[in-house]
Amino acid sequence: MPAKIEQLRPHSPGGEKRGNTSWTQCPTCDGWLHTTTDLLNRGSIALHCPHCAGDFLPKDAKRIVMA
Ligand SMILES: [Zn+2]
Repeated sequence: MPAKIEQLRPHSPGGEKRGNTSWTQCPTCDGWLHTTTDLLNRGSIALHCPHCAGDFLPKDAKRIVMA
């Protein structure tokens, strides 16, 4: 897992599944994209930024926030 992962505080009422979604910030354009935790854990799969069309690995992400 990349080291810069942040955790959002639990805030939602019960029922919503947590821990399986995250937001990743593109190191090129600072845009945010939605990813799954599973995808980040694999580490070797490049993420595709919809803002600048760049690809980057999870370890190169500027920030990662678990939701
Ligand atoms: Zn980008």
